[in-house]
Amino acid sequence: MADTVVFQSAEPWDGERPQTLVISCVDGRWRPFIQEFLAQGLGISPHTDFMAVPGGVEPLTLVDLIPKDFNFFRRRIESLVAGHGTRRIVCIAHQDCSWYAERKIGPIRLDLQARQLGDLRRAAAWMRETFPSIRVETYFARRLAVAGEPEKVVFEAV
Ligand SMILES: [Zn+2]
Repeated sequence: MADTVVFQSAEPWDGERPQTLVISCVDGRWRPFIQEFLAQGLGISPHTDFMAVPGGVEPLTLVDLIPKDFNFFRRRIESLVAGHGTRRIVCIAHQDCSWYAERKIGPIRLDLQARQLGDLRRAAAWMRETFPSIRVETYFARRLAVAGEPEKVVFEAV
């Protein structure tokens, strides 16, 4: 154990294994909205497993291109599913993802989003095939301009 306690949570420990796994990008601008969406939009308690890397599920589409990245992700999901009894996987991508922007092939934003949607579908197809008993959902988060108001964030089912 470390020497000095620097903080004690007010929350009691809950040792129950989460049955939902959320996979998203790490981008902190979107995280509060993702948490709100999970709670308010999907009715999922904050007690979920959470896997986040830049670009979200993208490594799951790299089995041919970069198998090392694919396997890193695959092994960890398989371990979670086996250890936690995962029943539901929620995958969320977001608009203007810098991971995709840096790796984009064409200059048009629409192409970027189309690629993200394609990757969500491809990753979900792999998960459904690999874990047939798990419910897999995919969503895309984007900004919505509202006249005279600050932009809002909406989530669309993919
Ligand atoms: Zn991102």
